[in-house]
Amino acid sequence: MIKQLGQLVKLQKIDNQLIEITKLKGDLPRIVKNLQGEIDTISKKLEVDKTRITTIILETKESELNIEETKTKLKRYEDQLYLVTSNKEYDALTAEIDTSKQNISKDEYRILELDEEKKNLDEEVKKADLDILEKGSQLKEKKKDLDQKTTETESVVEKLTKEKNDIQESIPLRYIREYTRIAKARNGVAIVPVHQIFIEKKDKKGNIEYIPAQASCGACQKNVPPQKLMEIKKQSKLIRCEFCGRLLFWDDKASEIYPSDEEIIM
Ligand SMILES: [Zn+2]
Repeated sequence: MIKQLGQLVKLQKIDNQLIEITKLKGDLPRIVKNLQGEIDTISKKLEVDKTRITTIILETKESELNIEETKTKLKRYEDQLYLVTSNKEYDALTAEIDTSKQNISKDEYRILELDEEKKNLDEEVKKADLDILEKGSQLKEKKKDLDQKTTETESVVEKLTKEKNDIQESIPLRYIREYTRIAKARNGVAIVPVHQIFIEKKDKKGNIEYIPAQASCGACQKNVPPQKLMEIKKQSKLIRCEFCGRLLFWDDKASEIYPSDEEIIM
């Protein structure tokens, strides 16, 4: 195998591990961020609701006080009614009495409205408190997972990054550029083993024989012509898949696919 091919395969193996580590953490940072966002939104609304409840309590007290004051006035007007000496005075007093009664009704109605609003808000606050508690514990759990995964992988990532740098330094720059260009375009996978499928065949005596059949790219699974497969097996130069552009190599373990193979591994 040309030296660079083997080094590129090593480089890919390191990159594959780094990709797996990123995948492992994959959803956790997003989940943690989303949960934190949801809790913040609920907390903000909770604060607004609580402030409103305080205002409602004050407004209710104010209306109750108004009613008390108006009732006192009303009683005074009603007492004065017996002492009036003119029609004009009588009319003025009855007008005051009517207004007072209307004001009491208005305040009583307002108290009912406020009470209704407060009941709804109390429910909302109760629900929000539970939501925050529930989401808070989920967040704590996910954060712990994420921290743990970060701590766990930190040293591995560090080790792999060092290995990667070492290998990269030993590979001529033009190969690295080629590899990086393909990897960027192809989800981080620049070089893959070619796959050769073997078919099971039984002869008349019942002996099983494996016949090599179609060869394909280990990534895009598109056909690799026999002539190309021969060249790949020679491993004397870099050969690309005609369809996905990735570099192809032969590896006895990963390239030969038998009917019993359940999984294709690199
Ligand atoms: Zn391909």
